[in-house]
Amino acid sequence: MTLRGMGIVAPDVLSAIERVPREMFVPPALRDHAYENASLPIAMEQTISQPYIVARMTAALQLTGRERVLEIGTGSGYQAAILSYLCRRVYSIERLRPLLVEAENRFRKLRITNITSKFGDGAGGWPEGAPFDRIILTCAPAEIPATLLNQVKTGGIIVAPEGRGREQSLVVIRRTEDGFDREEILPVKFVPLVEG
Ligand code: SAH
Repeated sequence: MTLRGMGIVAPDVLSAIERVPREMFVPPALRDHAYENASLPIAMEQTISQPYIVARMTAALQLTGRERVLEIGTGSGYQAAILSYLCRRVYSIERLRPLLVEAENRFRKLRITNITSKFGDGAGGWPEGAPFDRIILTCAPAEIPATLLNQVKTGGIIVAPEGRGREQSLVVIRRTEDGFDREEILPVKFVPLVEG
């Protein structure tokens, strides 16, 4: 993998990516492709993101090791596993139970104990755990729900794909004393956030 050559420089992000065996998170038939810089299908018509996008999103969260991070869209659990090495605790929500069960098995096999995951609709966030220091969405809403924006602390960061169909952008939002600063960093293509 050539993430370094693609401009991913944060050493802690690169070492977290190196610690997580991506072949464990893809279907057995696709293991030979696990270390290519490509998104791959997982079960139930979902996808595991391209490593470059995982790296960019992880870097954009600017983690120091102390944060509580909410993830919407556990999927294979790959992104959550990487975050687990860079923050205090990951809270991850998935709306497809079979995917959640498999992801939880992978966390156990890797002896990762700082991920709390649950089944449900992530559009409503995780009110019992809020406020969070960071929020990451790995499925794309047409527009980031206000409920989620309100669950990040002042000074906190939200990283998410936003938009419908082919028109998505990766956005980085920082919550300030008086509102939200928003930056679009690159065009992306994620599976949609499905409500309910
Ligand atoms: N982070 C994952 C990416 C999985 S793809 C990984 O590293 O593998 C996005 C996931 O978002 C899918 O599994 C999909 O089922 C889930 N998703 C879509 N809408 C959702 C919602 N409203 N709440 C929770 N999860 C959702």
